[in-house]
Amino acid sequence: MKSAIVVGAGLAGLTCARRLVELDWQVLVLEASDAPGGRVRTDRVDNFQLDRGFQVLLTAYPAARRWLDYGALQLRFFPAGAEVVTEGGWQRVADPRREFGSILRSLTADIGTMRDKLRVLQWAWESRTSKGELDESLPEQSSEAALRAKGFSDHMIERFWRPWLAGIFLESKLATSSRMLEFVFAQFARGGTALPQGGMQLIPAQLATGLPSESLRLNHPVVAASAHRVTLENGDTQEADAVIVAVEPGAASRLGLPEPDLTWRESRCLYFADAEPATTDGMLRLNGRGDGVVNHFVTLSKVNPSVAPAGQHLMMVGIRPGLSGSTSELETAARKQLMLWFGKQVEGWRLLRDDHIERALPDRLPLRHVSPRPTDKGIWQTGDYLADASIQGAMTSGERVAEALAKQGNL
Ligand SMILES: Cc1cc2nc3c(=O)[nH]c(=O)nc-3n(C[C@H](O)[C@H](O)[C@H](O)COP(=O)(O)OP(=O)(O)OC[C@H]3O[C@@H](n4cnc5c(N)ncnc54)[C@H](O)[C@@H]3O)c2cc1C
Repeated sequence: MKSAIVVGAGLAGLTCARRLVELDWQVLVLEASDAPGGRVRTDRVDNFQLDRGFQVLLTAYPAARRWLDYGALQLRFFPAGAEVVTEGGWQRVADPRREFGSILRSLTADIGTMRDKLRVLQWAWESRTSKGELDESLPEQSSEAALRAKGFSDHMIERFWRPWLAGIFLESKLATSSRMLEFVFAQFARGGTALPQGGMQLIPAQLATGLPSESLRLNHPVVAASAHRVTLENGDTQEADAVIVAVEPGAASRLGLPEPDLTWRESRCLYFADAEPATTDGMLRLNGRGDGVVNHFVTLSKVNPSVAPAGQHLMMVGIRPGLSGSTSELETAARKQLMLWFGKQVEGWRLLRDDHIERALPDRLPLRHVSPRPTDKGIWQTGDYLADASIQGAMTSGERVAEALAKQGNL
């Protein structure tokens, strides 16, 4: 039986390890932190369940469907569509494929022209036949250029696409690759948007549970790696037929791997608690006015009541990408803006946490999946930064590296 050491228990490392086990390899996963998950973690704060940065599972992700047991995750779904705040008040953008009753209201909402709305429908229809993977054969341009090429009006881009995509791409310029735009849109068109009842961390936890016992070691940072050996911070060494480095790019370069050419998108959100929910549903609220500090908002406890203790609600405020400021500056500005949206009750909200993740999403242009192969030093690498910055990208990267390694190992 061949053996492999996987350094890092994020989604890429865990999926790689699971696939190797399936291919009859013996694996040892060494993780620096105290739990698996990497950038997908959940904490308990004052009996609230807070994901580290607002993230969601798009249930159409093919890799997630292959590896995760959605039933056991007890998924809680966001209502389809969004409410957009505009100068003229709230406008509903419903998903007509799921909410037939709202088609008329959505088509007449002051978000875009009738043509814009029909284009969304047409795009959604076309996306239903996509494989759901990043399509590298598509020509590449910025997302904004792609939206314009599809014929969307300025009105629709500013009021809906910019804030909606800013919450996903973590940038407001819509400079992200149009391949990512097509990929993300297809996921929304083909499936639901969900949270595991116990928090996003249940995703890596479930992947880890499927590994043979004793094959995942937490609190085991690796300080050096070569083709067949790793050295741990405590001085121990481990040897195997192959070493796969599944850490984020900065950590990979500290292990001597080449520094990839990419930029990072940061994420910032404020979590607030109150006895009263801001909204009666868990629908996403978007800032279609382009002002203030708030980009998007959701009453998370209306999607998943388990995120808050009895009698309490959890509100997530997504800060507009590119803004900086101290916690108190952002909190003050966000409260002022949200009072216009939800009224005086915002004054009484209690700030639970300011989640500022500087290295949230790696961004590369051109965007393509790097073919799995060992480095000059014979080390394998996996991670979202070698694929696309998503749960799907990380998991697919892990799978593909495992398969390429097993194929090479069997030659
Ligand atoms: C705020 C935020 C919001 C997001 N929103 C979404 C979303 O809504 N939907 C979506 O699909 N994706 C989203 N993503 C992206 C998604 O979470 C990532 O693409 C994915 O989790 C990356 O997984 P990874 O395994 O490649 O890397 P990581 O998660 O970074 O894993 C790397 C692992 O390596 C470990 N490590 C580092 N150094 C060492 C060492 N020396 N020794 C041992 N272990 C080490 C780390 O502790 C970590 O566990 C979001 C990400 C963030 C941060």
